[in-house]
Amino acid sequence: MYRLLCPNLTVESLFEIDLDALACQGIRGVIFDLDNTIIPWDSREMDATIVVWLEDVLARGFKVAIVSNNWRSRVREIAARFGLPFVSRAYKPAKTGFRRALAELGLEPGDAVVVGDQLFTDVLGGNRMGLMTIWVKPLTAREFIGTRIHRRFERLAVRLLKARGLMK
Ligand SMILES: [Mg+2]
Repeated sequence: MYRLLCPNLTVESLFEIDLDALACQGIRGVIFDLDNTIIPWDSREMDATIVVWLEDVLARGFKVAIVSNNWRSRVREIAARFGLPFVSRAYKPAKTGFRRALAELGLEPGDAVVVGDQLFTDVLGGNRMGLMTIWVKPLTAREFIGTRIHRRFERLAVRLLKARGLMK
């Protein structure tokens, strides 16, 4: 169980992700969480630096999709800016949304990475699906009430993972 909560990589920000290294490892697709991963939870505006970074990910030839637990209208709006396939109301950590995204991208689980800010949705769901997982620090401290409750368990999970030597 603990291993399923353990990300393959933990980063402070998206910009720390080594895209060359991912490509070398055979990763061809990136499945992004939306809220607090590429856009602040309470905002409709993406940071310009993240827009540029995302354009770079696409320019490098990575296939990209968004899998979010949020409502369709919000997810569609952001996905449309980049012409990306998306799954909304994904009920992560359920596998269904990831499976649909992989089908859209024409990739197998071993070909793609999940990038998200929550252990109990993005990382757990991605690991269950057999995807590589990258846990990124949330863009803002402001969050959905359900997420704030999740964070308490997230902190506990991190303590347990560290105690077992599964996370640095
Ligand atoms: Mg999120």
